[in-house]
Amino acid sequence: MLEIKNLHAYYGPIEALKGIDVSVANDSITCLIGSNGAGKTTLLKSISGMIHRTGSIELDGLGEITGKNSRQIARAGLIHVPEGRHVFPGLTVRDNLETGTINWHGFFGRQSYRDELEEVYALFPRLKERENQLGWSLSGGEQQMLAIGRALMARPKVLMLDEPSMGLAPLVIAELFEKIVEVNRTRHIPILLVEQNARLALDISDQAYIIDGGRVILEGKAADLKHDDRVVQAYLGKFAAGQ
Ligand code: ATP
Repeated sequence: MLEIKNLHAYYGPIEALKGIDVSVANDSITCLIGSNGAGKTTLLKSISGMIHRTGSIELDGLGEITGKNSRQIARAGLIHVPEGRHVFPGLTVRDNLETGTINWHGFFGRQSYRDELEEVYALFPRLKERENQLGWSLSGGEQQMLAIGRALMARPKVLMLDEPSMGLAPLVIAELFEKIVEVNRTRHIPILLVEQNARLALDISDQAYIIDGGRVILEGKAADLKHDDRVVQAYLGKFAAGQ
């Protein structure tokens, strides 16, 4: 579905990505794991055209998108849920969700987006209950639901989620990750997931890439990497192998 080859990205003179190859298969959840500063967020930003990069990014049905800007990439259906959620604090939940439609609906579109809204409310009933509440007043977990809901309003072909668990309590994370799996399994949307919580990411993913120093240092089936000694020692802790 999404094929990335030899991707390089720079912040001024600093080379943050040093030739990354990653592919996201149809219907799969693929995760990127790595320590702080490894380049995970940079990779998502590069894919969605937010920073300058070279190399090749191909999206099924659209071909090469490396020359396109972030607006065109969002229009193509590659939808990025950024680290930190970036909910609009002064807009209601419903208006935040409406902003997600802009890539296909435009600012003054007259098409209905009721179906998309109903689907998001069915997935996250809490958002329906909070429909008229302002973004700033939501809890962290609700803001993450809203950020994912807004991305679903954009009719994604591929979803990229950056650190959805960040700052959330374990029970909230468990609920949220169930929803992420549901989106993937029932709506058949491939997901590229960046996650600090390696165990959680490997548990729900089909494929995994370990990133370090702007390079992929290991890749494979998530179920296999969970038991790989190098992954266990560096990212899961010594009691993780049998869990
Ligand atoms: P984290 O989990 O801490 O978010 P990450 O794997 O997502 O880490 P990135 O944020 O992609 O890492 O950072 C990769 C490298 O690029 C780091 O060395 C970081 O210092 C550098 N970097 C990131 N953003 C910028 C920026 N705006 N300007 C300069 N350097 C940056």
